[in-house]
Amino acid sequence: MAGAVSSRSCQKIRGAQIRELLDSKQSVLFDCDGVIWNGEKAVAGATDVVRLLKKRGKNVFFVTNNCTRPREKYVQKFSRLGFADVAQEDIFSSAYCSALYLRDVVKVRGKVFAIGGDGVHSELRDACVSFVEGDADDSGMSIVDCPLEPDVKAVLVGYDDRLTFLKLAKACCYLQNAECHFLATDPDPWHPLRQGRVTPGSGSLTAALETATGRKATVIGKPSRFMFECIASQFGVDPARSLMVGDRLETDILFGANCGMETLLTLTGVSTLQEAQGYVDSDAPDKKDLVPDYVVDSIADLLPLLEEDE
Ligand SMILES: [Mg+2]
Repeated sequence: MAGAVSSRSCQKIRGAQIRELLDSKQSVLFDCDGVIWNGEKAVAGATDVVRLLKKRGKNVFFVTNNCTRPREKYVQKFSRLGFADVAQEDIFSSAYCSALYLRDVVKVRGKVFAIGGDGVHSELRDACVSFVEGDADDSGMSIVDCPLEPDVKAVLVGYDDRLTFLKLAKACCYLQNAECHFLATDPDPWHPLRQGRVTPGSGSLTAALETATGRKATVIGKPSRFMFECIASQFGVDPARSLMVGDRLETDILFGANCGMETLLTLTGVSTLQEAQGYVDSDAPDKKDLVPDYVVDSIADLLPLLEEDE
C-alpha cells in the first residue's frame, strides 16, 4: 500500500476530473453530518446528488459515526430533508454496526452494559442483544451501594448526553473483569453544534474509561474497517470501485484509506483544507493515510457532471 499512500494528493477537483472519478466507481459511501446535512438542513444540492447517483446505477451508502438515532429515525430524517428513496438497508450507523459486532463477532453470552441513547438501545434490541441501560433507576445511590448486574459480559460506550458519574463508575466495575469486552461505537472527540457551541463525543467518554481501567476499547465506527465489512458482506462491494466521501480527516478519510478506497474530502463540515495540507506536509508516515485523494468545496460540486445526461 506504500505506493498508494504516497500518491494521495489532496487534489481539488472539478469538471472532467469529477466525471472521470465518478465513472470509475460503482459505489459511493457518504458520511452524513457535515457532508449530507448540517443539523436539520440538507447541504445545498445534496438531495439531487444522491438522486442522480442512484439514477446512474451507483450504489449509495451512508456510513455515520453518529449513534444517537436508530436507523429508522435516519430514514425519517432523510425523507424530512427531501432525500427520496433512502432505505434502512443503505444506512450503516455506528450503533447498528456495534450491535452486529456484539451479536456476530463477539457472540456475547450475557448482557451488555450500554452507555448511550435511543440509537444504541434500539439497535441492540433489534439485533436481539440483551443489555442493561446505563440509566437504570438508582437515583440517590452511589457506586458503593448501587446494584450491579452479575451477568455483564461487555461494555459498549456511545454518545450519551445524560452521562452520569455513576454510569462511568459502574462501567469501571464491569471492566475490572478482564473477560468483559470493552467496545466504543466511535472515536469522535467532539461535535460542532449551533452558534459555535460544541459537545464532547463518544471518544471523550471512552477516553475517561480507558484512563480509569488501563484498557483500550475496540472501536467499531470509522476509521475502523468493520463498517465497511458490514457493507461488503451485505452488498459485495469492491473497495477499488468505491469512493468514500467525508468531512473529517481522522475518521472518514482514514476509514477510506484503511479499507482501500479512494477518498473525497468535502469542506462543508469539520476539517479544513489547511488541516489536510498539514498532513500532506507531515513527516510522520502514519499521517499520510489522513490525506484525502481529492477535495471539493461541497458535494454540490458533483452536480453539474451528474446533470449532464439529464
Ligand atoms: Mg461528519
